[in-house]
Amino acid sequence: MKILIAADMEGISGVTNWDQVDPARSEYPRFCKIMTADVNAAALGTFDGGATEVVVSDGHAGGYNILIEDLDPRVCLNSGNSAPFAMVQGIEAGDFSGVIFVGYHARSGTEKAVLAHTWSSKRIANVWLNDILVGEHGLNAAVCGAFGAPVLMITGDQTTCAQAEELLGGLETVIVKHSTSFSSAECLHPYVAQELIRKDAERAVSGLKDGKPKPFTVSEPVKTIIEFRLSEMVDRACRLPGAKRLDATRIEMTAPDMPTAYINFRAVVQAA
Ligand SMILES: [Zn+2]
Repeated sequence: MKILIAADMEGISGVTNWDQVDPARSEYPRFCKIMTADVNAAALGTFDGGATEVVVSDGHAGGYNILIEDLDPRVCLNSGNSAPFAMVQGIEAGDFSGVIFVGYHARSGTEKAVLAHTWSSKRIANVWLNDILVGEHGLNAAVCGAFGAPVLMITGDQTTCAQAEELLGGLETVIVKHSTSFSSAECLHPYVAQELIRKDAERAVSGLKDGKPKPFTVSEPVKTIIEFRLSEMVDRACRLPGAKRLDATRIEMTAPDMPTAYINFRAVVQAA
């Protein structure tokens, strides 16, 4: 049984502020250590739950946050940034039984949610897949679903976990901090958070034998609407083939399937 652990950084315990997840800032190395330990806790639980192979995808910023030298030696790490499937790189192999999201955050525009954003805090206000408002967990879950893999578990603040539960349903949620604003939270000690992550990962993976949860899929073709922060971003983004301007700040694209929609989405965001 093969499991993908897709890790982000804003949702790990202790993070309340952009400086802590920015490689240019002095706080950053501390949180690389905690992120790596959170991933290790998820990997340990995943193996204990019956996985035989674990791939980790480093999905924050440049994709070089996880300290490979401190990682469980049984896992393989997808590191770096320009891979086609970005935050869930590896999923395209199509043979994963499930996916675990570690360190995730709520979607853009959410209250009581630490560092809530969708892909790019500077560029994106909102994203809809077939008229469903989604954050990064929704976008990534839809790609995983297209390759037949359900999301088994998510870790993050209480708002992230509630959004994932509402959209995806039936997954394990590990609340590692209670956000009290965009930049504040009551945080569990990392050791406590990691013990919860390990236990829930084991339960999530061992529960797969009951056939739950189901992959999250969106109907095809996939219509993606992106609302940008500024009209000048749409001026640039709508030059890409297939990107249709709806109004000052929104564009619409249609793709035959979710993996193509994801790749197109990334191209448009980069162009903006
Ligand atoms: Zn991130």
